[in-house]
Amino acid sequence: MNNKLYGKLIFELSHPGRKGYSLPKSPFKHHELPMALRRTKAAVLPECDEMTVVRHYTNHSENNFGVDNGFYPLGSCTMKYNPVINEEIAALPEFNLHPLQPESTVQGALEVEYRLQQMLCALTGMADFTLNPCAGAHGELTGLMTIRSYHQSRGDTKRTKVIVPDSAHGTNPASAAVCGLEVVEVKSNADGLVDVEDLKPLLGDDVAAMMMTNPNTLGLFEREIPEIARLVHDCGGLMYYDGANLNPLLGVARPGDMGFDVMHVNLHKTFSTPHGGGGPGSGPVGVRKGLENFLPKPHVVKDGLVYHVENNLGDCCETAGNHVGAFLGNFAIILRALTYLLSLGKENVKRVGPLATLNANYIKESLKDDYELPITGLCKHEFVFNGLCDKTMGVTTLDVAKRLLDYGYHAPTIYFPLLFHEAMMIEPTENESKETIDGFIHVMHRIAREAHENPDVVKSAPHDTPIGRVDDVEAARHPVLTFRQITNNGERKIENG
Ligand SMILES: *Cc1c(COP(=O)(O)O)cnc(C)c1O
Repeated sequence: MNNKLYGKLIFELSHPGRKGYSLPKSPFKHHELPMALRRTKAAVLPECDEMTVVRHYTNHSENNFGVDNGFYPLGSCTMKYNPVINEEIAALPEFNLHPLQPESTVQGALEVEYRLQQMLCALTGMADFTLNPCAGAHGELTGLMTIRSYHQSRGDTKRTKVIVPDSAHGTNPASAAVCGLEVVEVKSNADGLVDVEDLKPLLGDDVAAMMMTNPNTLGLFEREIPEIARLVHDCGGLMYYDGANLNPLLGVARPGDMGFDVMHVNLHKTFSTPHGGGGPGSGPVGVRKGLENFLPKPHVVKDGLVYHVENNLGDCCETAGNHVGAFLGNFAIILRALTYLLSLGKENVKRVGPLATLNANYIKESLKDDYELPITGLCKHEFVFNGLCDKTMGVTTLDVAKRLLDYGYHAPTIYFPLLFHEAMMIEPTENESKETIDGFIHVMHRIAREAHENPDVVKSAPHDTPIGRVDDVEAARHPVLTFRQITNNGERKIENG
């Protein structure tokens, strides 16, 4: 780590006249550019030698923690390993296509989309999928628009409520609100599952849908789904499944068989693909038989041996919309998901759920004497601790998360779900070896011991990262996301924007 360079902008490393390139003389003459398009002032670009540029970006890349660096047990986010073959396939020049190319010249790319649609149907029990939405939350919005269109097509316009469990991912209520629907919260019972008795009085002819995550964000399988689906369907609502994290169900169970009508999956979680930092993602939406026409267009269909992009709205003029994104979605992510599924094959896909479940339970059982486990029993792919068992020393979940960084582990998801004050949500994924998981368990035990014997070392962590603790409140209230460059008589100055 070159500490001198750390944290500086490339502009701050700039010196007038330094160059990191040597280009051949341009064959074009200045006057070939129309006057109106020419700069009147030189662009303000950093002037650095090549070595400074290389070190600057290499040092930055090494300050990032990714799943390629180490164990990343970030619950609900499924930081699954992204196999290198995905990148090789996504980089093939044959897939470097223009979205407006004629169909006959992109049959291979359309086949990629079609085959993934078919595979997602097979894995989830849905009748059809659109690959257009570009994130999980975008899928939720698309799915809810699909549901609203279905109700409107029957002239049923008073359905404005969406029921969302209190343990749901924050995007669920947010998507419902963005869709113009009213969010109604249903409580969890003492077992961490949707409370059916709390649900019953919320049902009526104004309910558009109920959104559920299963396993829920506590990693628990919702055992009452058949009953909940019956109740919601009886009042005329539809069942929405948040399948962002489908890992534990892969090859084991299908939302379509449980009574769900509409769902999304996150390709950038369940089906590999690196994510974080806001993208790129893909959140395909699936529907059960009878709702296919309400999915947005365009859509890839197969006609004999030829793939075809369907653009017309069909019989139903109330689809979720002709477009929810540009063209046919985030193609490179779709391609990675197909590669991932094909490289696993049918047999190995079936092992994803059981292995993800085994790994999570192994960690949970190994650590429950040191970390408070509010809900005992079997979990699926993830589980939640409520901080340390020993709270007498005042060591919090945040402290433990920061101390993990010193030991080279990414922190779990913390303070979510909101059901427990000191929530720590751990998801190892199916990828990790026993040695890696044992290493994590060992370090978690060690931090628990430190918290008791030498609490200050945990409370003041991290000690070994380039930046210690940041002021979360200041960062949220006064984020500094841009900078201004001031040029004064050839001298440059950088100020926060
Ligand atoms: C990640 C996640 C989402 C949202 O997905 P984005 O791609 O981040 O928009 C929704 N629900 C659950 C349960 C998730 O884990």
